[in-house]
Amino acid sequence: MPDTTVAVIGGGVVGAAVLFTLAHRGIAATLLEADTGLAYGASGTNSGVLHTGFDAKPGELETALILRAARVRDPVLDALGVPVLRCGAELAPSTDAERATVAGLAENARRNGVPVHVRAEGGALVVPGESITDPVAYTLALADAAVRAGAAVLTDARVEGIDQDADGLTLHLAEGEQLTCSVAINGSGFGDAASSACVYGCSGRSNSSLVSATSTSEPRYITPTRSEMYLTTARLWAMNR
Ligand SMILES: Cc1cc2nc3c(=O)[nH]c(=O)nc-3n(C[C@H](O)[C@H](O)[C@H](O)COP(=O)(O)OP(=O)(O)OC[C@H]3O[C@@H](n4cnc5c(N)ncnc54)[C@H](O)[C@@H]3O)c2cc1C
Repeated sequence: MPDTTVAVIGGGVVGAAVLFTLAHRGIAATLLEADTGLAYGASGTNSGVLHTGFDAKPGELETALILRAARVRDPVLDALGVPVLRCGAELAPSTDAERATVAGLAENARRNGVPVHVRAEGGALVVPGESITDPVAYTLALADAAVRAGAAVLTDARVEGIDQDADGLTLHLAEGEQLTCSVAINGSGFGDAASSACVYGCSGRSNSSLVSATSTSEPRYITPTRSEMYLTTARLWAMNR
């Protein structure tokens, strides 16, 4: 008997959501996180925007997933008690080029079926459905609910390699520790190439040793990007228009 049916590698929002789903379907699952806690990667440091999909490219798989997520997530967020600030979004153009961009985005939103309107005065694009959550609280709530439903979470548990034999998979952790399972899901991102050849791709962008081990396709590499976020007051925003 393996130690668990499914091992989920990586404790960001993707790994936590996968664990949540497995646990609520009655599947024995264990999440392995390399760091000392969950959501220390991108999942804990992002802007927390719950996207409507107003600006997503029509017809793409990512867009279909964003639009579906926007339809189904509210009951999950409510049940988990995750805070949501339903503030909407507003894009205010100040040049002709920006007005053209706003017009394009309004048309894009309509193609995606996302309600928007353009203010008569000033021409700002208003997206009432955009909202913001606490991304750390969201990830932790998913993991906590999974644990309450029977899943296990191990931190300080970096997966350093995976072997496959007739009985299933053996995950090799630091200091010679092992965990056996039938299926491994890689939620550790696309940066780690060592162990992904025999796992299904959730450990963020930092784990290159996992990506090359996935059997699904050629290794995929994503170059992480970095952005700068500025929080400003409504007053400052108004002054800058
Ligand atoms: C600046 C910025 C702003 C963003 N803003 C938004 C936004 O507003 N809204 C939105 O929806 N998305 C946003 N995103 C995207 C979002 O943050 C990511 O899509 C999401 O967090 C990815 O989650 P993840 O679980 O795949 O990866 P991560 O959060 O990176 O989690 C991966 C986990 O795997 C662990 N790990 C790595 N290797 C191993 C290993 N070998 N063994 C065990 N564990 C391992 C890592 O320690 C990490 O905890 C933003 C991203 C960035 C960079």
